[in-house]
Amino acid sequence: MNLGSTLGSESDPMFRVPTIKSARELESMRAAGRVVAEVIDRLKKVLEPGVTTGFLDMEARKVISSRNAEPSFLGYAPIPGAIPFPGVICTSLNEEIVHGIPGDRVIKDGDLVKLDVGAVVGGFHGDSAVTLIAGEGDAKKKELVDLTRRALEQGILAARVGARVGDISAAVEGLVRPRGYELVREYTGHGIGRRLHEAPQIPNVGVGGQGPQLRAGMVICIEPMVNVGTWRTEVLDDGWTVVTADGKLSAHFEHTLAITPDGPEVLTTL
Ligand code: MG
Ligand code: MG
Repeated sequence: MNLGSTLGSESDPMFRVPTIKSARELESMRAAGRVVAEVIDRLKKVLEPGVTTGFLDMEARKVISSRNAEPSFLGYAPIPGAIPFPGVICTSLNEEIVHGIPGDRVIKDGDLVKLDVGAVVGGFHGDSAVTLIAGEGDAKKKELVDLTRRALEQGILAARVGARVGDISAAVEGLVRPRGYELVREYTGHGIGRRLHEAPQIPNVGVGGQGPQLRAGMVICIEPMVNVGTWRTEVLDDGWTVVTADGKLSAHFEHTLAITPDGPEVLTTL
């Protein structure tokens, strides 16, 4: 997810220059990533048709506070004056792509449920998202979810020291678009650290060999958002929820990973 990573903060040098994390800082980022993974693990266990998105938010809040962590998204405002995000997590259903606000909406059998979770430990953020199907989904939904998960895997494999951001984008795009699906353009992956959104932006479409070079100690979020129809998006009147412009389904997966000399290290995993 990127709560407004394409908005606003470009004037801040922290946003424009990728930060390199020390070994000690990476330890904090691993701890944050672990908390995020624990939250997602818990949400997978309790998700079923009939629960509300607000119930999932409460479950996430419990796990985060039990680990003495802080939620990354609650109160987040991408630019001064923006509506602060009111949830602990983002819950986006069906045609909603990202940034859905949890509340009293009841999840139905077959709903495509996108859960995006961020947590802070020792001043450092972790950020991860999954798409789940509540109850029984049809083959079309399963194919979309599976493709999006594989797109994230391909992106992670491309995240090597010396490679460029465009190599990640090209790996994601090369899997998804030849299969007739589209990728969201207006929202991207991002660097992460003391801030939820840092440089560089990680688009899901692009050309290999182009863009900022990946260096050891950088930590990034890769997050393909795959649409069945158009890549175009709209934002609902709540100021947050991003939906597909044509109302067709969308899926989203995200991991936080460190660039290391031994290859990508996924931090948001158990
Ligand atoms: Mg993100
Ligand atoms: Mg996210």
